[in-house]
Amino acid sequence: MLPLDAEVIVVGAGPAGSLAAFELASKGIQVLVLEKSEFPRYKTCGGGLTHKILPEIPFDITQVIETTIHTIRFSHYFTEVYSRTSPDPLMYCTMRSDLDAFLLNKAIQAGARIQTNQHVVGIKETSGEIVVSTKGSEFRSKLLIGAEGASSIVARSYGLREDIIPGLAWEAEIKTDPEFLAQFSKTVFLDWGTFPGGYGWAFPKKDHFSIGVGGPASLSKLMMSYYQKFLNHFLNSLRIDTAPDTKIISALPRHQTLSLKSWPIPVRTAKGSFHRGSVLVAGDAAGLTDPLTGEGIYYAVRSGKLAAESCFDYLNGKNNSLKSYSEKVNEELMAELLEANKIRCLFNAFPLKIHCFVRDNNRAWRAFGKILRGDRWYADVRKGFGILKYFWPLVCAFSKRIEMAKENRLSKYIKKDPPW
Ligand SMILES: Cc1cc2nc3c(=O)[nH]c(=O)nc-3n(C[C@H](O)[C@H](O)[C@H](O)COP(=O)(O)OP(=O)(O)OC[C@H]3O[C@@H](n4cnc5c(N)ncnc54)[C@H](O)[C@@H]3O)c2cc1C
Repeated sequence: MLPLDAEVIVVGAGPAGSLAAFELASKGIQVLVLEKSEFPRYKTCGGGLTHKILPEIPFDITQVIETTIHTIRFSHYFTEVYSRTSPDPLMYCTMRSDLDAFLLNKAIQAGARIQTNQHVVGIKETSGEIVVSTKGSEFRSKLLIGAEGASSIVARSYGLREDIIPGLAWEAEIKTDPEFLAQFSKTVFLDWGTFPGGYGWAFPKKDHFSIGVGGPASLSKLMMSYYQKFLNHFLNSLRIDTAPDTKIISALPRHQTLSLKSWPIPVRTAKGSFHRGSVLVAGDAAGLTDPLTGEGIYYAVRSGKLAAESCFDYLNGKNNSLKSYSEKVNEELMAELLEANKIRCLFNAFPLKIHCFVRDNNRAWRAFGKILRGDRWYADVRKGFGILKYFWPLVCAFSKRIEMAKENRLSKYIKKDPPW
């Protein structure tokens, strides 16, 4: 028998893979990360980190934070615009190429080995070993963590993609004058409740804005028209004179669109199994993204760490299976994501009401900020609904019906002009 290449192989060096590798290597486990790209690599992503992620990352990430956000400028159907500010930071904006290279470097410093340009194409198990095939090589280990994102081959090979509904998001980097941008460096722009189940955002970075829209993949054909409308609204709100009918690039005299790409956001909608035998999945590979916001980096970090913990306990004989991983993901992450899904339905059913509620009600705005900061959780939201909390399941079921009716109505616009 050939010697093992590592005790644990991690496929993918995004936040889930790098945090899993960091934790395992820090505990003295031999870990090998197989990554298909050369690092640093571009990743289609807003790069927004909510404040609640900071205590979850076991080292300082200040050097890759480009801006710190205190203000959100909300709009609904590009009107009803207002800004809300928090004295405490709500979120941080990063470039994923820098963030991911930084996290991977920390894993390497902790002792993990990395092989880039290794595109994993197959996995098989023989006599208690996992054999991972890439184009041209084979690698062997005792355990395998699939952390290779939305199109995970590990999750597909092991039947771990149940109950995942596809979301989609488009995103572009709009390069602009840093001096001009500095005025907006503490503000994110958010148009919500216009596109059912999705929203538009603009995040300020050092020398550009990341602008994007996302929502259910079933409405993907309408997304580009929403993106263009949101972009125009955003530029108008920056008081830049734009001609609505021209193409995006020509609408940006001193600005330059660097990329405009889409990528899936997988959303898990039920508890279930996140491991099979000696294999587990983390981050987007497991569909661990927030159905309300599309946030996935936080859940990638959390699940990567939980995956490492379960592998460590298994390798040290504390557990005789990786079942503890599925249990912890269900208990610590899925419980919260399922609450987020309910709030998503409620929001999509009554977006204007909630938009105005956050504008007019200081408690609602503070609760919003606390959720971003990790001082409150989605599960706490129902407690703020007074007497309605006793009817929560009913309210959620009713909202879901309204949300579905709205999505169906909008899908009819696919052949006509959308309502915005
Ligand atoms: C447009 C858009 C905007 C978003 N904005 C935000 C945001 O602002 N904040 C937020 O929290 N989340 C955001 N998300 C979600 C976030 O990007 C993901 O949830 C997050 O990247 C998941 O991390 P991960 O480590 O699981 O996977 P990934 O970050 O996708 O990393 C997977 C890694 O695996 C590698 N890989 C893939 N296949 C293979 C293979 N076969 N073999 C070897 N390597 C492989 C890839 O090259 C990649 O490096 C956004 C998503 C999209 C699409």
